[in-house]
Amino acid sequence: MSLTYLISLPSYYLPLKMLELKEAPTLYQEIQHLKKEKNAVILAHYYMPPELQLIADKGGVADFIGDSLGLSVEATKVKEQNIIFCGVRFMAETAKILSPEKNVFIPDNDAGCSLASSITAQDVKNLKQKYPGVPVIAYVNTYATTKAECDICCTSRNALNIARSFDSDTLIFIPDVHMGRNLQKKITAETGKKLILWNGVCEVHEQFSEMSMKAFKEIYPNAEFLLHWEVPQEAVSASLDERKGVLGSTNDILKYVGESKSKQFILASECDLGATLKGMYPNKEFITPCIKCPQMKKINLENLLQTLESIGTEKASKYEICLDADTIRRASVPIKRMLKFV
Ligand code: SF4
Repeated sequence: MSLTYLISLPSYYLPLKMLELKEAPTLYQEIQHLKKEKNAVILAHYYMPPELQLIADKGGVADFIGDSLGLSVEATKVKEQNIIFCGVRFMAETAKILSPEKNVFIPDNDAGCSLASSITAQDVKNLKQKYPGVPVIAYVNTYATTKAECDICCTSRNALNIARSFDSDTLIFIPDVHMGRNLQKKITAETGKKLILWNGVCEVHEQFSEMSMKAFKEIYPNAEFLLHWEVPQEAVSASLDERKGVLGSTNDILKYVGESKSKQFILASECDLGATLKGMYPNKEFITPCIKCPQMKKINLENLLQTLESIGTEKASKYEICLDADTIRRASVPIKRMLKFV
């Protein structure tokens, strides 16, 4: 784990980052201009670099910032024909599945996810053969072809409620083993249900260790902990044994900080969520070992501009999300079931 600690992001973090990028003002203007010309909307995930998290009416380019579920739902409401998804591929696929009549683009088609690539459609078929009749819950961090084989999707926001909703006393949960173990602990305590887990991991959240969380505790005796579901259980137990904090989704983390009286927090999630938090709560302090998702960081202002420029030309295929009609139809079933739990 990197020992470069990001301590107390200043309240001017976002505008400062913007100004540091000498090319940025021109890029911002070009993107803003092309966005109108190409009838496009820009959706940006909370893990995007800060310069992409700046909202359009504050001088940036993003029309909406959110988590994967929030953005996909937003994509169904926009009037623009072209959606540019600044996130990773499985997220853009979900937007395409929910809005098949729209053109969905991603600035780098190679922006993947260690969780999504850990399991294939054939793996799910094999699991169903091994455990006949056991419902399969797929975390939304899976590719469309994998989702198409599952009973229902979930996000970190609604996973607990979805798992609770099944009558079955055993459930298959894919693909994040750490999130699965964290869910299992809560679900078993509440309902006695058992989860069969897959062995996928998020390459960012798995880096939060028991040892590093204990060290943070020593150094910051009054800080509260903000932990994502995808963090390993040992690190969660080491953080929340007698210290206050939250284990949950990105949205749970944002909400918790707003409701907490504490002024200091240790963030165990993707580094650039620190920028979101600091933007929302400028008077609070966020401490994190700055672990960035290399997949999310493949998206930048330059390739966003290139994506916009390509719309309406033959170069657009480099950025466009294309899924066959059968995959869209089958994957939309578990996603739409999940949306009832939003
Ligand atoms: S942060 Fe983890 S779960 Fe999210 S895209 Fe990166 S690798 Fe996947």
